[in-house]
Amino acid sequence: MENNQIIYRSTRSRHITATASDAILQGIAPDGGLFVPERFPEFTESYEWLSRQTYQQVALKIMGMLLTDFTQEELKHCIDSAYDSKFDIPEITRLKKADHAWYLELFHGTTIAFKDMALSILPHLMTTAARKRGVKDEIVILTATSGDTGKAAMAGFADVPGTKIIVFYPKGGVSAVQEKQMLTQRGENVHLVGIHGNFDDAQTAVKRLFGDEDLAERMAAGGMRFSSANSINIGRLVPQIVYYFYAYGQMVKAGEVRPGGYINVCVPTGNFGNILAAFYAKKMGLPIENLLCASNENKVLVDFFQTGVYDRNRAFILTSSPSMDILISSNLERLVYEITDQNPDETNAFMKELAETGTYKITPEMRANLKEYGFYGDYASEAMTSDEIRKVYEDTGYVLDPHTAVASNVYRRYLGQIEDQEKTVIASTASPYKFARSVVTSIRPQLAEQDGGALSDDALIDMLADLSGVAMPRAIREIRNAPILHDTVVDVPDMKKEVMRWLGIGHDSVS
Ligand SMILES: *Cc1c(COP(=O)(O)O)cnc(C)c1O
Repeated sequence: MENNQIIYRSTRSRHITATASDAILQGIAPDGGLFVPERFPEFTESYEWLSRQTYQQVALKIMGMLLTDFTQEELKHCIDSAYDSKFDIPEITRLKKADHAWYLELFHGTTIAFKDMALSILPHLMTTAARKRGVKDEIVILTATSGDTGKAAMAGFADVPGTKIIVFYPKGGVSAVQEKQMLTQRGENVHLVGIHGNFDDAQTAVKRLFGDEDLAERMAAGGMRFSSANSINIGRLVPQIVYYFYAYGQMVKAGEVRPGGYINVCVPTGNFGNILAAFYAKKMGLPIENLLCASNENKVLVDFFQTGVYDRNRAFILTSSPSMDILISSNLERLVYEITDQNPDETNAFMKELAETGTYKITPEMRANLKEYGFYGDYASEAMTSDEIRKVYEDTGYVLDPHTAVASNVYRRYLGQIEDQEKTVIASTASPYKFARSVVTSIRPQLAEQDGGALSDDALIDMLADLSGVAMPRAIREIRNAPILHDTVVDVPDMKKEVMRWLGIGHDSVS
């Protein structure tokens, strides 16, 4: 048992190590690096075996290999608490063949986007980790959101004993559906706060609160401590590896690939968490040939794969796939670590350069490693994305959301350029219902633009139900009539005061 233990290390220095539960509690390493497994355990079961397992069984197997200081019982409890009837299909996720690919539908959870796959289990991993480490403090999650993460985190942590969650979002800076989803979130331990400012203002202020010593002391005195639910926590990454194994098993089960045969995966990418999970699955032995990284017009990653230069010094573009509108892909640091052959000094130097200049250039050896690992990057423009939604709908009747359509289009053009016999799984990251306006506009512009484009979101959602023939998800039905439960809005300088007020700590004057 002992020698199966996986230790986690920081990407930035050699002397920092942690067990899985420590790494989950800390979120980020004390040197600012990200925790990575010091080696990848090898998957040794047969693929026939894999093809017979339920999602929960695959989760137990894969998470057990990586989170080695959790007992099987603890993991089973976390898995059963997360992957239950909150998901609208008992399989949790499923593969849908349409046109040229197999779409892995990761949007059957509470908020109908793929972040539910990890954020529904993270609260349970965290509270279990706290118990294991003898941490008695209540865990307080602080998050800034541009829309999707906030709701998924609130839904995941709602009423989980031993936790509280505070989410800050830019008032007026998220979509109507996203705001309504958050405003209607139930849970005694959930607090939503709008701010007068943009997402960056919220994000910067939250980072400052994490580092605020006065606040940390008041929290400790009150029996609380902060933790982070953002996508650099390995407690979010590990659950995402599971669905690539599950998808492969389903391909075997359906006779689409022979056991041990290769597949490609194509992932619509923002923060590089989802595709990194596919890469980790490959490192654990899953037969993945190529890793196709799909970006929208914010194509900083495409340039990285094509030229070896990461350069965030460019205009930020608002697109119809907002969850991929990102110029700093934080999880890329973990890939950089792997392609330096796990060299924390080199990784640290690149990240320092990024922080200071906004850019860095990798070495020819690192580029060779990227190629060796099967990475490929391309992007889809707004017009290509919209055409893709219409084309797949017209050819097959299947409706894609704009994020998935970016990946689908990148894959279509990849097939046109490269002779590749492998079958491809495309990560389908959101329900089209979440982006009804742009989806209906892509499929039937004349319908969507009647009344001069003044149609309500509800009207567009009804049109989508007619067009797709897919029943409206519970998440959409519920918010239509749900009561608004949050109405706090503050100025950025007052965020700390609001945190203290809601947590009931420190009534004296605040600097
Ligand atoms: C967050 C998100 C993405 C990007 O995923 P990363 O792990 O950040 O690369 C893609 N699509 C949707 C719908 C998302 O919510």
